[in-house]
Formats: sequence, C-alpha cells, structure tokens
Amino acid sequence: MAVPFTIRRLQQLSAERDDEWHARTHAPQWTILEWAGAMCGEAGEAANVAKKIRRVETDMELRVSTPNIEELRRKLGEECADVLIYLTLLCEKAGVDLELHTQLKFNSVSKEFNFPQML
Ligand SMILES: [Mg+2]
Repeated sequence: MAVPFTIRRLQQLSAERDDEWHARTHAPQWTILEWAGAMCGEAGEAANVAKKIRRVETDMELRVSTPNIEELRRKLGEECADVLIYLTLLCEKAGVDLELHTQLKFNSVSKEFNFPQML
C-alpha cells in the first residue's frame, strides 16, 4: 500500500534528497536565504506562465512559439510544484513544520471570516 502524500512527508523526502544531492556534488549547503531565493525564482516562472495563459484566454496577439493552453497548464503545474518543493526545503532548513503551520493558518483565516472549511 502506498504511503499517503502529505506536506510533512514531502518536506521530509525533499530534505533527504537534498542531503544526497549535496553529498554527490560536494556543493556547499544552502542558507535559508538561498532556498527562499530559489522558491521566489520558481514563483516568477509560474507567474510568467500565468501571463501567457491570460494572453491566450484574451486572444492577445500571440507569438508563433506560444504553446497551446494544455501545454501552458501543464507547465504552470510544473512551476507550482517547483515552488512547493523549494518551500518545503526552505521550511526544513529553517526548522519550520510546514504542514502544521499551513493547518494553523488555514484554520485561523476560516475562523476569522466565518468559513466552515477547516483542516
Ligand atoms: Mg521551474
């Protein structure tokens, strides 16, 4: 039976893979500022794809090289996954339990604005 996907498991496996990655390459460990920078870089890539999707949706003059909407959505998913993976690494290096803090924050906003959705 497959182990369920959770944010906590992603954070743990990302950290383990990063340790192996750095051991293989002998690259120095990154600081939390470098992980934050990498995450923001991926967020910028995601925003650029979102810009292209909007251009397709509004029939703006498109370049011949602009991918179709399905390819753009696939690319957006890939860039969002990059953001999430770097976010887990940032949190791991900073000693932050991302799953716990996500749950606390999500529930706090639901409670504040009287929404029933709770984690
Ligand atoms: Mg990327």
